Amino acid sequence: MEPNDLGPISKEKWKLRLGPERYGVLREKGTESPFTGKADLLYNERFGHYLCAGCGQTLFLSRSKFNSGSGWPSFSGTADDAAIVEEEDTSIGMVRTEIHCSRCNGHLGHVFDDGSTGLRYCVNSLSLYFVEK
Ligand code: FE
Repeated sequence: MEPNDLGPISKEKWKLRLGPERYGVLREKGTESPFTGKADLLYNERFGHYLCAGCGQTLFLSRSKFNSGSGWPSFSGTADDAAIVEEEDTSIGMVRTEIHCSRCNGHLGHVFDDGSTGLRYCVNSLSLYFVEK
């Protein structure tokens, strides 16, 4: 996909472009079950960039990735804070901070403040793809 080819995209086009699993997460704010999804991303320790699976924007860098034990790819920071938008999410009876891509609006996951250990960007692997650098 061309990064700039983002105009208004219909539901049907997104579905075709992303496939049902990625569509459910990125466009319908679904959450993949922990320790599922793209397990190669969960355990990936290679150097590179994690891009938005919706539009290709760089979201996270391998140097910020860590094993949180949560079952979802976790990052201590973003590649560029302008790439990620935060929004309050009260959907499951608790207050969480949802994160989405600033370019295509695709849902990524949530960011948690774990106190002494800092921020944890908890991201669906289906929202990402990895490019080795
Ligand atoms: Fe995106």
